[in-house]
Amino acid sequence: MPKSANLRRRGLATLAIHGGERRRKAHNAVSTPIVQTSNFSFGSMSEVVEFMAAKAQGRIIREQEYGRYGNPTQAEAERKLAAIEGAERAMLFSSGMSAVILTLMAYMKKDGHIIFTSDCYRQTRDFAANFLGKFGIQNSIVAPAARDIEQAIRPNTNIIFTESPTNPYLRVLDLPAIAKVARRHGVLTIIDATLATPYNMRPLAAGVDMVIHSATKYLGGHNDLLAGVTLGSHEQLEDLNKLQRMMGSMAGPLSCFLLERGLKTFALRMEHHNRAGLRVARALEKHSKIEKVWYPGLKSHPDHAIATKHMRGFGSVISFLVKGGGRRTRKFIDSLELFLITPSLGGSESLVTQMATMSFFDYPAEYRKSIGMVDNLVRIALGLEDAEDLIADLYQALDRI
Ligand code: PLP
Repeated sequence: MPKSANLRRRGLATLAIHGGERRRKAHNAVSTPIVQTSNFSFGSMSEVVEFMAAKAQGRIIREQEYGRYGNPTQAEAERKLAAIEGAERAMLFSSGMSAVILTLMAYMKKDGHIIFTSDCYRQTRDFAANFLGKFGIQNSIVAPAARDIEQAIRPNTNIIFTESPTNPYLRVLDLPAIAKVARRHGVLTIIDATLATPYNMRPLAAGVDMVIHSATKYLGGHNDLLAGVTLGSHEQLEDLNKLQRMMGSMAGPLSCFLLERGLKTFALRMEHHNRAGLRVARALEKHSKIEKVWYPGLKSHPDHAIATKHMRGFGSVISFLVKGGGRRTRKFIDSLELFLITPSLGGSESLVTQMATMSFFDYPAEYRKSIGMVDNLVRIALGLEDAEDLIADLYQALDRI
C-alpha cells in the first residue's frame, strides 16, 4: 500500500473512498477516529512559543489548537469533501443553514446588495427578507434564470446567491452564464448545490466562486446527522475561516465521523438516486391522478435542456401536484407505506412532504400561493429502496384517493 494514494484523474467513487484520507491514522485505524475533545494540550511552554511564532508567520506546524478552531475528525471530512468537489478547501458547519448564513455574513458589504432567486429554501428566503435589512444590506429576489439575475445587478451588488436545482421546483440555472455575468460586474457567486451534489453538478468548474451544501442531505446520506459545508479556494475562504474561528458553529466530531463514513458510498448512492429518480418521475407523469410533475430529467421540465447540458444526473427529489385539493393530497400522503413524512431529503429512507403544511404553514395562505406553495404540491425525496417498490407504493396510495 503506497503511503498516500495518487488521486489525480480519479473517478468520484475512488475520491469518495480515498480522497482526503491520511494513510496513517491514530492507532493505525482504517476508519477515521472520532476525536472527542474540546482541547489539545501542549507539552511545554517552548512548544507553545514555537507554535505561536509559526502561526504569526502564517505557518501551521500542528493542526490541533482548540476545538472551536478545528478538530482532526472534522479536518478529515473537510479534506474528503474538497477532494470530491474538486475544491482547494472545504469548511464544515453545524448545519446547512449555518454554512449559508455565515458565508453570507463573511462576504456581505456595508450598503451592499445581494441577489437571491425566488424558488429557494424557506430559511434562506427568510434570512434575506427579514434579517439582511438590519445590517443595511439590500436584497432582490428574482426568478431563477440567468437573464433575470443579470437584470437585477445594481452598482452596489456584491453577491449573487442561488440554489441549483432550486427547492422545490428544481429549476436548474445556467451557471457558466451566471458566472460570466458576475465576473464582468465584479460580483461574487455563491451556489447552494445541495440538491445537485458534486456528483451531478460541478459549479466551481463552471466558474462559480463558492459552493454550499447542506451535508445533512445527500452527502451524509443516512438521515442521521446535521452539517453544512462551504467550498472554494484557500484565499476566498480565509475570511469565512476567521468568522468561524470566532463564532464556532462547528459540526462536531461525531457528525463529522458519520459524514465522512457516509461519503464513502456517496457515488454509489447517487447513481442509485439518479436512476430511481428518473424512473419514478416518469411513472408519476403517466398517472391520471397527477396533474403535473417537476423533475429536471423530464422533457416537460422548463430547464430540461440546461439540466441535460450541465448535469450528470438529476437526483431523487421530485415535486408534483396531486389532482384535487389539500385534503386529498394529505390522504394520499397518509396512504403511503414506504415514505416517511419529514421535511428533509437525500437520505436512505424515502421522505415525503406537503410543502404548504410542513414548511410554509405559518405564512398567510395568499402569500403561500404567490410563491407556489399550493395545497396539492407534494415533494418526495427517494431513498435507497428499490424503485419498483416506491412506484408501487405511490400508485397504491393514488388508488386510495
Ligand atoms: N439548502 C437547501 C437547498 C436545503 O434544502 C436545506 C434544507 O432542507 C438547507 C439548505 C438547510 O440545510 P440544514 O437543514 O442542514 O440546515
